[in-house]
Amino acid sequence: MKEIHIDKIRETVYDALLQINCELSNDVSEALLEGMKKEESEVGKSIFEDIVKNNNLAKEKQIPICQDTGMVVAFVNLGQDVHVVGGNISWAINQALKDAYKDGYFRKSVVSDPIERKNSMDNVPAVIHYDIVDGDEIEILLTAKGFGSENMSRLKMLKPSEGEKGVVDFVTETVSLAGPNACPPLFIGIGIGGTMEKAALLSKQALLRNANELNTDPYYADLEKKLLDRLNKLGIGPMGLGGRTTVLGVNIMTYPTHIAGLPVAVNICCHVNRHIKVKV
Ligand code: SF4
Repeated sequence: MKEIHIDKIRETVYDALLQINCELSNDVSEALLEGMKKEESEVGKSIFEDIVKNNNLAKEKQIPICQDTGMVVAFVNLGQDVHVVGGNISWAINQALKDAYKDGYFRKSVVSDPIERKNSMDNVPAVIHYDIVDGDEIEILLTAKGFGSENMSRLKMLKPSEGEKGVVDFVTETVSLAGPNACPPLFIGIGIGGTMEKAALLSKQALLRNANELNTDPYYADLEKKLLDRLNKLGIGPMGLGGRTTVLGVNIMTYPTHIAGLPVAVNICCHVNRHIKVKV
């Protein structure tokens, strides 16, 4: 049994959160450059230029890419041959979050209660999901999720007979309703199958997959391409001011489901798609 001290987890998550708030990952930067090349609208092109300039400045000066520094979500894949020592792993992740948001001067965007709405003043807590996997490592996938786009995400329990068409129509309707509110150009995570909560989780996990990575199943890889094409025909464009680039990436994740159901969740992310995978 390998021992991993919580200090190691805390330090790794702290560094990762400072990084993702100031520097986009390569897949997201490349998708933005690719989108800029394809955009035909003059306004759209100039918005892309501003976005790229903003991202370069944030990286150079190590300041946040956006004023909305999001709510942190962590997917922890805990190797079953790991013994975490020195304290509690959730505490370590939240402490790292608290320290990173304080030291990075990132906006504190979390309220302690959803109705009373008092700011927690430290961006804690993170939303943490655990999975037990083989091995003696801890893998942590992190995002700092902006809520302009989170608010436009949707879930629907389709009838099984609605099939692929039902999924495509629901995704298209969701992106269309999001319009400019989700800060396009967008990344779309889609979860299909499982139960209601599983579909929602899959859609978030799909967003954390690299934007340039197609589904390993050829059928779903094809569906990702078809959806990308269809969504970019909506004409919403960068920042909703028209253009051919509304969506930069579509990622689908699936899970077996019940004979009577077809859950579909669409998690929308803005162009500030902050995600990272770290190993401890
Ligand atoms: S949705 Fe994204 S781009 Fe829009 S304000 Fe939030 S983090 Fe910034």
